Amino acid sequence: MSERLIILGTGNAAVTRCYNTCFAIQQGEDYFLVDAGGGNGILTQLERAEIGLEQIHEIFISHGHTDHLLGLIWLIRMIIGQIRSGQYQGNLTIYCHAELKKTAMTIVKLTLPEKFVKLIGDRVVFRIVKDGKTKKILGNKVTFFDIQSQKAKQFGFAMTLSSGRRLTFLGDEPFQEHEFDQAFQSDWLLHEAFCLYADRERFRPYEKAHTTVKDACEIGARLEVANLILYHTEDRNLANRKALYTAEGAPFFAGNLLVPDDLEVFEL
Ligand SMILES: [Zn+2]
Repeated sequence: MSERLIILGTGNAAVTRCYNTCFAIQQGEDYFLVDAGGGNGILTQLERAEIGLEQIHEIFISHGHTDHLLGLIWLIRMIIGQIRSGQYQGNLTIYCHAELKKTAMTIVKLTLPEKFVKLIGDRVVFRIVKDGKTKKILGNKVTFFDIQSQKAKQFGFAMTLSSGRRLTFLGDEPFQEHEFDQAFQSDWLLHEAFCLYADRERFRPYEKAHTTVKDACEIGARLEVANLILYHTEDRNLANRKALYTAEGAPFFAGNLLVPDDLEVFEL
């Protein structure tokens, strides 16, 4: 059964006009959620994408920054609510690295009622990801890797899709050489691009360990990827983002360059 990619959010940490970068991979009735954005806007995005909480049984959180982690607290709250009322079948599995589990549990314990927290470890379970280790998610092989961030410990992954194609997620930082084997000739590469290269003085991506559309397209070309998705961007000119980013990037990348809006869907 082939998969679909639903982009739930496309913005960087500070956006107000779109949601923070996160997405879901759909296979049949099941969804694998990757990051959760920065708040209960995740519930809005899921509702707009017509994804029911009872269809989400696997979530991966890449790192502990606000714009990726805090939506998870809401999902735990809402899904445990559904479990308690008998509306949610099976377990919710949350994949993340060990320190991030501690961070998430600290927030959960400080902010959710005790009767909710009790279900963690029972119906809501954490599974720790480690560098180079694989898990089966949606029945597909997923290899996690430490992106070796200088800011906060962060993991990416490569998923082998049911078609045999490969989707690679590098987190919210630019490609690094140690990720070459995971990213080279990927059918789908999800890569951050903070802003246009032309706007680098205005948005200053490099000092935040981010990059630009031109840079990301040069990386995509070198890695010989078929489809390059750019996201985790600024949101100052959303109406023209797709056209502007595509125009800047196209001369540097001959493959399929995609600059999605929130809620855009791709057949993988
Ligand atoms: Zn981020």
